[in-house]
Parts: sequence; structure tokens; C-alpha cells
Amino acid sequence: MEQHPPAALTLPFVEARHYLRGAPRRRVDLIVLHCMEAPEKSNRAEACARYFASLPDAGPKASAHFTVDNDSIVQCVRDEFVAYHAPGANHNGIGIEHAGYAKQSREEWLDDFGLAMLQRSAGLAARLCRRWNIPVTLVLPTGLRIGQRGITTHAYVSEAFGRSKHWDPGPSFPLDRYLNWVAGST
Ligand SMILES: [Zn+2]
Repeated sequence: MEQHPPAALTLPFVEARHYLRGAPRRRVDLIVLHCMEAPEKSNRAEACARYFASLPDAGPKASAHFTVDNDSIVQCVRDEFVAYHAPGANHNGIGIEHAGYAKQSREEWLDDFGLAMLQRSAGLAARLCRRWNIPVTLVLPTGLRIGQRGITTHAYVSEAFGRSKHWDPGPSFPLDRYLNWVAGST
């Protein structure tokens, strides 16, 4: 167990084209879970990072802080800056993109690929929770509306703030298992 919160994570970094290049933020309240709507393949973290990096200046303005697949994590936006992943929670959230589709069943999320990816992601989320003093708590739409801090999904952010229709990572994403892994890693 580490005595002090770790500094910024050191991961492969592929800078996204679009994010808010302002003053570094000092506070993060939410970790927002997403899926890429792309297949569960071991090159997806890298491919999604390249996609965020290669978007034209004119947009679309899309980015997330991290992309994850079964064998790697790529950072695309530093924690301290605002990425464009979940309108309503961009200013105070860190976005994590996972390979896979929102329509996936629980069994599909928990297959060999999914287990490797989600445990890898949970380790990342645990470090982010320590770094930013975020509680390992699931935040539902009602909680988002009153400023609760913790771990949430793009779908919940969409429901809470009505600024997007995205429903990822989907209703069968195994949030219970994910939160347990995060709690076990902190
Ligand atoms: Zn999303």
C-alpha cells in the first residue's frame, strides 16, 4: 500500500487533437466510463487514441483521457485538462474509453478479453481515485444532479443532464464487478 497518492500516471501518451487547453484544474470529481463502439481487439486502445489525435481542426471535438483494451492503456489528455467525452461532466470528469459495444451482454463484458480489460481499467481508476481523492462509489443520475463524487457512466451523465443521447457503456456493463475491482486495488 502506498503512503502517498501517486503523481500523474506514466503511460504511453498520444495527445488528442481536441481538449480544453486552459489552466490546469485542481479538482476532479468523477470518473466517467465509456465504450468505443468498436470491437474488442487488442489494438483498440492505440487505434482510439490515434483517432482522437487525428481529428481535423474543424471537429468533431471528441476526446477522452484514457483508452483501454485487454493489454494496454493509452493516455490522450492529461488528467488536469478537460476532455470532450460526456457533456455535463466534462469540466469535472476523467473519461475512460473501453473497447466494446454498449449492446454487449454481461457475459460478453466478462469474457477473457473483457476481464483483462476491465481489471486493467479498474487498476487505473483506483490510481485516479487516490490521486484525486475520489470515493469508490457508483454515482447514479440523481447523484450527478446534486454533485456527488465517484465513478459513473456516460449513460448516467446523459440521463442526468440531457446533453447527449449516448448510452455507453450499456446496461449490461458489469459495474458491480468493476467497482469491486477498483475498491480492491485502492
Ligand atoms: Zn461515451
